[in-house]
Amino acid sequence: MLKKCMGCGSILQTEFEDKAGYIPEITKNKDLFCKRCFRLKHYSELPKIIASNLDYEKVIDNVLSKNGLMILIVDLFDFSGSFTKTIVDKLRGKDVILVANKYDLFPKSTNVTKIVDWLSKSCEKVFFRVLGIHIVSSTKGYYLDELMNTIDLARKSRDVYFVGCANVGKSSLINQLLKKFNAKTEDLIATSVIPGTTLDQIVIPFFEDNKAFIDTPGLINEGNIINKLLPKSYKMILPNGEINPITYQITKNNCIFVGGIVCVDFTEVINNVSLTCYFSKSLTIHRTKSEKIPHFFKEHIGTLLTPPSVEEKDNIKYTIHNFEFDGKIKKDIVFSGLGFITVSGSGKFMVHTFEGTDVFVRNAIIGR
Ligand code: GDP
Repeated sequence: MLKKCMGCGSILQTEFEDKAGYIPEITKNKDLFCKRCFRLKHYSELPKIIASNLDYEKVIDNVLSKNGLMILIVDLFDFSGSFTKTIVDKLRGKDVILVANKYDLFPKSTNVTKIVDWLSKSCEKVFFRVLGIHIVSSTKGYYLDELMNTIDLARKSRDVYFVGCANVGKSSLINQLLKKFNAKTEDLIATSVIPGTTLDQIVIPFFEDNKAFIDTPGLINEGNIINKLLPKSYKMILPNGEINPITYQITKNNCIFVGGIVCVDFTEVINNVSLTCYFSKSLTIHRTKSEKIPHFFKEHIGTLLTPPSVEEKDNIKYTIHNFEFDGKIKKDIVFSGLGFITVSGSGKFMVHTFEGTDVFVRNAIIGR
């Protein structure tokens, strides 16, 4: 009988070391981990094997043919990048609980009710049944009791499937729910900062009626900035604690660099533009005059402005997005996987960032 890895669910194999599920020897031991998950558990080594989105489609179509309760997990810090059309469309007609994870990254003063309102508005045009909206933090354990109550009420003797993009914290959330509501720690799933850790479905018996939690692979969001960086750099951009917002008053022909990843150039300031930056504390924000932009791009990327590092920068091309805000309502410019800038006031902005990464504009999520 084929054996599966206890960590990522891949079928174990001894032939191809660079492929999923590789293990030097398949022993009689019940709890086997592939080499990659074994390393993740024991040495925090982070080799990068990612399930392709083609595999994702196959697995998710199979999942959705089942009559389960779906938990759609999104990253609150990267909502637009993780509430993707691919997943939302696939959930059509399903019973869904929306879980927005990583709440701990938001400033403590953030009003939860307002964020839930904001999330409900985002769900107005979807074609699945929203049975609940929860804001949680898997790492800090915030609001997990409330989520578990909703799961118990909505489940109706069904299995519970966890779906979402890679890196939204699916495995972390399941681990926390297991720890809190089911004592068996050996069921814990490998988590890492590598997108796409979970390569196949993992069934974790959880409920007394023999129903289970089922973890599914994450859809890789190609537009997420971390796909353009090496592990050392993306550890820098992923915030590991509460974000400390930094506000700037802006005048015309000022610009702001966020590391060497983003440069927002204020080409026209019509009235009182202020911006608040929400990024990892490890990123340096540098304000300078617009006329210096070409010089900064030529001389300082990889040195004064990092990430990218010197070794990454040769593979990166920059592109420009233009925005114009009328100042009637505060807006966020969101950089998928990196963070966001809340803008109030009216003006025109030219945003330089990595080609192939997603930049979205939305009504401000905080401080409206
Ligand atoms: P998955 O790919 O969706 O299963 O995501 P993982 O559970 O492997 O988590 C991806 C990354 O996000 C890891 O670095 C986690 O530590 C981090 N993470 C997960 N949940 C949270 C959370 O609630 N808050 C914060 N700040 N980070 C989280």
